Amino acid sequence: MLDRRSLLVSAAAAGSAMAVPASAQTLPAAAPVEPDRQAPGFYRYRVGDLMITAVNDGVARRPLDGFIRNAQIDDVHGALDAAFLPRDSLTIPFTTLVIDRGGKLTLIDTGNGDSGAPTSGLWMTNFRAAGFDPAAVETVVISHFHGDHINGLRLKDGTAVFPGAEVLVPEAEWAFWMDDARMAAAPDGMKGAFQNVRRVFGPIAGDVKRFKADSEVVPNVTAVAAYGHTPGHTAFAVTAGDGRLMVMSDTTNHPALFVRNPEWQAIFDMDGDMARETRKRLLDMVASEKMQVAFYHAPFPATGHIARDGDGFAFVPVAWSPII
Ligand SMILES: [Zn+2]
Repeated sequence: MLDRRSLLVSAAAAGSAMAVPASAQTLPAAAPVEPDRQAPGFYRYRVGDLMITAVNDGVARRPLDGFIRNAQIDDVHGALDAAFLPRDSLTIPFTTLVIDRGGKLTLIDTGNGDSGAPTSGLWMTNFRAAGFDPAAVETVVISHFHGDHINGLRLKDGTAVFPGAEVLVPEAEWAFWMDDARMAAAPDGMKGAFQNVRRVFGPIAGDVKRFKADSEVVPNVTAVAAYGHTPGHTAFAVTAGDGRLMVMSDTTNHPALFVRNPEWQAIFDMDGDMARETRKRLLDMVASEKMQVAFYHAPFPATGHIARDGDGFAFVPVAWSPII
């Protein structure tokens, strides 16, 4: 038992041990810290000799009612409880990747730009905090044409965010969204998505390069067909030396729901049955091969591994490391 006197003695001893050495007074002062902000949202890791930087674009919250087409809300609440997540809404993060190959920068997806929820739009601040310059981006690779992945290419006022970059998109995705007949036939609720694709890509339509599934998109990055979420939705296998990373894109939305329950279909899955088959196939593959994975909508830094767990899978995030 500590009494008041021994507490005072130990406090005095701690005080003398923590006295600031004279030399520390010459160190630069810490930058001012905003008390309601996290550190900048970037995280680096290596895949072979490639440097990967995950760059966060904030989050969006959405109600859970109706979010999953084929699950009872009680079961959804059970999955949230198991992950210690609140039941009232789902917080969906956005995380893009920067691949640095000897100073040549490739982005995979671009975030929400200035078109997303007020809790998103942090991408450029975080990208710059990681030491990058948007003018130095050589290649932008797009997984699919939903707004949270492409709107970072072009601000609402029309400004191109990466004017020096070559833009590479899935051929099947381009064929679907740029088809005027499909846009005319689409239900009213989907017309906005078609129009947004034209807003983003229209001014550069002649310069956009389209890639096929199973092709090497840039060195070390191979497109993997992951259709269902959208008609041309694409994952990417990043390989270098012994390093292998599967960029899952939106093969699952939040892992606590859809990695654990790969049968569940989010309302964003345009072809729910195909999306489910793709999800199960890719999760099974990365679990068997113990490949590192990156998700667009997993909690930051949105990378880890997939383990088998009952009739589903579990996402095991990486351990944060200061050693890269
Ligand atoms: Zn998405």
